[in-house]
Amino acid sequence: MSSIICRLTSHKINRNRVWYDGLHNRTNCERCGLAMIRSVSGWRAFDSESDDDPRRTAHPSASPN
Ligand SMILES: [Zn+2]
Repeated sequence: MSSIICRLTSHKINRNRVWYDGLHNRTNCERCGLAMIRSVSGWRAFDSESDDDPRRTAHPSASPN
């Protein structure tokens, strides 16, 4: 799902759902649900190719428990 607002402005960080994956803080865009990652320069869209790292752990809510 993409949002026109996201394309025109920027993604809206959902600060209530920030979690730590072992390397970076992560969350999703509140509007379009895109995975976001907090880099040294700020929040940006998560890139599944360049950001993929085996040290990252899944979102806590994705665990089988
Ligand atoms: Zn968005």
